Amino acid sequence: MSETKHYKVIIIGSGPAGLTAGIYAARAELNPLVLEGNQPGGQLTITTEVENFPGFPEGIMGPQLMEDMRTQVNKFDAETRFEAVSKVDFSKRPFTVESDGGTYTADSVIIATGASARLLGIESETRLMGKGVSACATCDGFFYKNKEVLVVGGGDSALEEATFLTKFASKVTVVHRRDEFRASKIMIDKAKKNPKVEFAYNKVIDEVLGDEFVTGARLKDTQTGELTEVTVDGIFMAIGHNPNTELFKGQLDLDENGYINTIPGGTKTNVEGVFACGDVQDTIYKQAVTAAGSGCMAALDAESFLEG
Ligand code: NAP
Repeated sequence: MSETKHYKVIIIGSGPAGLTAGIYAARAELNPLVLEGNQPGGQLTITTEVENFPGFPEGIMGPQLMEDMRTQVNKFDAETRFEAVSKVDFSKRPFTVESDGGTYTADSVIIATGASARLLGIESETRLMGKGVSACATCDGFFYKNKEVLVVGGGDSALEEATFLTKFASKVTVVHRRDEFRASKIMIDKAKKNPKVEFAYNKVIDEVLGDEFVTGARLKDTQTGELTEVTVDGIFMAIGHNPNTELFKGQLDLDENGYINTIPGGTKTNVEGVFACGDVQDTIYKQAVTAAGSGCMAALDAESFLEG
């Protein structure tokens, strides 16, 4: 049996929050271990251009930004491992973190596990996932050249993805359950100006149609209950995200939507020595730059906890 390695700080997650925490913890000579998880680099690795991360006036591709952050972590004395955490124990000290690569102990843990795409939860969506149903326009948009697709949702993601998909698709219809968008004005204007984008207001997906591949969708009117069918080749879900906190249920205080509760103005959780940063605890801002900022805060909080 291999020896359990001990760290002062273990960081779980490798999006902007986790990697920024890694940079700060490493520079503070805490020699952190960063367990990168199932999607190293996090959500930015499935986006295209990031135009709002300060310091990049020309914009930067999401995967490149994350690669650069990892390079920066590795410049210092930090270990980054492509391992996904399967279990944690915060009930006794040192804390225990188990991954698919081993078991580790730590004096402090920084959680930066982010969030994952929310889905509708209907059987036909699950059955046809990857066969016309997608939760990542930037990953799968290319497959819909000259085809018609739906984008479900009314937030920034939905409208941004709708505009993006017009690069490939001949027609993109945004299906939104209300007649008002929560997306920002700039995103709405951009989509509305695009001749390939249409809107289906007050509609939800009642059923994804197709046996082997998506052939269409049955839409339900949220006001009248009326059902209509549309023929499309692809359906992109852009209805927000759920925090990745399954591992921490019963160990940390979570809010009613599953986000980790942190003490306002900081990154402390209800367990002393466990900190949370980025989208896993952010119910409001959810931006790459705010995630990075809170990653910095978590590392400073961990440092002061360890000194104490
Ligand atoms: P979001 O703002 O939470 O929007 C989710 C959308 O999906 C809402 O319109 C919601 O409808 C709808 N929805 C949720 N559950 C649904 C269901 N079961 N069936 C049908 N519709 C459903 O999520 P987001 O668009 O992913 O954005 C998340 C955050 O990231 C936001 O802060 C956003 O500003 C930010 N973001 C920024 C950019 C950018 O600046 N470039 C790009 C993308 C995202 P209701 O409106 O009726 O609730």
